[in-house]
Amino acid sequence: MPVIGLQYRLGVGRCRSYRYLLIPTVRQQACLVGLLGLQCELYNAALEERRGAWRWERRSVSFFDQCRVLTSLRGVRPEVLASGVTVCRGTLRRLDWAFAGFYRRCRAGQRPGYPRFRPRSRWDSLQWEDRNGWRLDEPSRRLHLFGVGGLKVRLHRPLRGIPKAITVRREGRRWWVTIRCVEVPAEPLSPTGRQVGIDLGVRVLVATSDGALITNDRHAQRAAKRLARAQHDLATKQRGSKHRRRAVECVAAAHRRVRNRRADMLHRLSRRLVNDYEVLVHEKLIVSNLVCRPQPRPDGAGGYASNGAAAKTGLNRCIHDAGWGTLLAMITYKAESAGRTVIAVDPRNTSRTCAHCGHVSAGNRRGAVFRCQACGHEAHADTNAAINILRAGRAQQQNAA
Ligand SMILES: [Zn+2]
Repeated sequence: MPVIGLQYRLGVGRCRSYRYLLIPTVRQQACLVGLLGLQCELYNAALEERRGAWRWERRSVSFFDQCRVLTSLRGVRPEVLASGVTVCRGTLRRLDWAFAGFYRRCRAGQRPGYPRFRPRSRWDSLQWEDRNGWRLDEPSRRLHLFGVGGLKVRLHRPLRGIPKAITVRREGRRWWVTIRCVEVPAEPLSPTGRQVGIDLGVRVLVATSDGALITNDRHAQRAAKRLARAQHDLATKQRGSKHRRRAVECVAAAHRRVRNRRADMLHRLSRRLVNDYEVLVHEKLIVSNLVCRPQPRPDGAGGYASNGAAAKTGLNRCIHDAGWGTLLAMITYKAESAGRTVIAVDPRNTSRTCAHCGHVSAGNRRGAVFRCQACGHEAHADTNAAINILRAGRAQQQNAA
């Protein structure tokens, strides 16, 4: 999660990001749009420089090389520097990340795409990486951006810690600011003396060892119909037309709605779990492995046999939709701030072991029902797994102590 990555970069205290709605005036909005355009241009120019230097001189250009050149822009393109050098550096940093990702994937033996030139329509954010060029005035609820002015901020919740960096983002017609803070004080919760095992599933999103079953709303699935309609609508529009642009916004809004609803649900759920329990045990999971595509299976006659790809695609979509990784990340950071303990355990056999007698067999489980072949113990399969997970977590805790 970005929170953890940032902690490494800044190397200080507990980090948190806070996101607030911005309410720019018409003039400020025009200013921001202009700034987005210039930064997009800068990104493309910097990409061109890196590409050209390598192609013609076999010379690699670093982030620092490009930052040094920035100041010489003052004579040629003064408007690029009109909002300060910090936001330009933020843009160059993004290009640097794009290249870092590209080289990392190359080294890992994958075949990544080379960083691309970006059209203005796909450039929506500005970042200030240090404390220059902006100032948050909490009492008057204004975010002062150098070259733009004092933007009204809806501070719906108090900011904690020391603000270090910001990102301003356009989403549809709205503008948001994400403020990254360091040295955020912990907010310990009172002890409850309760422990819980958490089993993550597709049909039942979370099953706890106490027997609670929280079903997955499958937000995307419900919204899929509306999305399909919006996408179909988009496909019928002529390229470059005003109607098409409106249809694009419609599709983006549908995606955004799904994303927001899912995040809201996961935030509430993780908050409830962290408030209720002192020790939370979950299965270690590697989502990137779970959602990978199945290997193609050649049938020897030049074709391919069924490898279950279609079924796996369906399951992948469910996994993405359920947002296991996001949920665990939310539980982890909320628990850390609240002084709760989170334990990750090996997921092997948790769903095949009988929580009553310990008998392990694949035949114990049939769909959502768990019935032990040795002792006849019957339970909901996910609840049974959650109890095993809690037990494994306790054992792990005792071994460590
Ligand atoms: Zn049993």
